[in-house]
Amino acid sequence: MIEEILTNLYKMEIPLPQSPLKSLNSYVIKALDRNLIIDTGMNREECLKAMMSGLMELAVDIRKTDFYITHLHPDHLGLVSSLATDSSTIHFNQPDADRIKAGIFLDDLIGFVRLNGFPEDELQTISYTHPVFKYRPKENLDFHVLKENLDFHVLKEGDTISISDYIFNCVETPGHTKGHMCLYEPNKKIFVAGDHILSDITPNILLMSDEWDPLKAYLESLDKVYGLDIELVLPGHRGTFTNWRERIQELKHHHQERLDEIISILGKGMKSAFQIASQMSWDILYDSWDLFPVPQKWFATGETIAHLKYLEEKGIIKKEMIEQRIIYALN
Ligand SMILES: [Zn+2]
Repeated sequence: MIEEILTNLYKMEIPLPQSPLKSLNSYVIKALDRNLIIDTGMNREECLKAMMSGLMELAVDIRKTDFYITHLHPDHLGLVSSLATDSSTIHFNQPDADRIKAGIFLDDLIGFVRLNGFPEDELQTISYTHPVFKYRPKENLDFHVLKENLDFHVLKEGDTISISDYIFNCVETPGHTKGHMCLYEPNKKIFVAGDHILSDITPNILLMSDEWDPLKAYLESLDKVYGLDIELVLPGHRGTFTNWRERIQELKHHHQERLDEIISILGKGMKSAFQIASQMSWDILYDSWDLFPVPQKWFATGETIAHLKYLEEKGIIKKEMIEQRIIYALN
């Protein structure tokens, strides 16, 4: 469960109960003065237990530990609210910190997917079936972080963190979230990837508002990382890997296929994002769209909206409001 990756740098698997991802990789760097933990797990008892026993095994004193969080998702950020002590610095990025501060409200998300054609009866079940919402207070989905208690130290592109004999450079990689930020150690040639590139999972690129073009940002972030000189990728889930350029090409290919599929679906007539999602091919173990659990339909719709936004910004498709639904058509 604990693996020494390089001198003083360990990979710790934190279990994620009820998540298809199974576990989160938390990276621990031991140093004489202050230790660093990169990503933490959900704010749940099971994660806390695994983290504390791992730290004990490594003889890491939590009171002398700082944190780096790659992005705001609760499996990366959540547990930091239980781990941070008065002396801890929590390194984070501005866009995701702003998102947490603004609050994430289920009603806003529901309103948005309703506009995109999500059926009313299925929407009614979302607040108690959606795995991400189940463990949060209903009104403000603030990722279990008590924002009054958590002070982030904001880092940006090019900023560095020196620890033990590692000097990590911050690499902004927006896409999976708006503020997603990786760490690159140019001397050791290691890349802490968060959820930007994973070995055998495709990171989801979702859009649940109209505020930005996450797929464009993601593809640009992939190109940026393609140019680095990397010997080992330390991802947020599953095993470490070396073939990052191949993975980046696969991920780009995957999104291009999705874009092509949407164009071909829209070639047969205008549709809502939900209708388009229902006709796309998803890599999931259900025989038909109707059998998808509602949360899966929700994610598929969000993923489809991200691709639609990209095509819209490129001028390939357009949208209009018809009977209080957003409908897409080829341009
Ligand atoms: Zn994530």
